[in-house]
Amino acid sequence: MEQTPAFPTAYEYALAHRCPTCRAEPGSPCDAPKKNASLARMDAIRERVGEEPFEHDPLWRMHSTRQSAGSRHRSRDIGNAPWPEDRVPGRRYDTLDNVGKSPRK
Ligand SMILES: [Zn+2]
Repeated sequence: MEQTPAFPTAYEYALAHRCPTCRAEPGSPCDAPKKNASLARMDAIRERVGEEPFEHDPLWRMHSTRQSAGSRHRSRDIGNAPWPEDRVPGRRYDTLDNVGKSPRK
């Protein structure tokens, strides 16, 4: 396991993008009642059979369009970053701070 990941999680990437489907602002969760309802149904079923509800990946509560925007961005950052052996430990190589701002000059 890496101590300090060079890249944020896929969830953080998706969250940094505006949702193309529900127009959720960067940083705000998706307005996805159907997704949330189906997760709630899964929880209810688990509860009925006496199982602990499990932690849902927050990515599942996002529209797939936003997930793909995030993962495209993540792959691009990984493609632009130095090879893992050339990276400085503890340094992040993502460009999430640039989302929504004008492209690099
Ligand atoms: Zn959405």
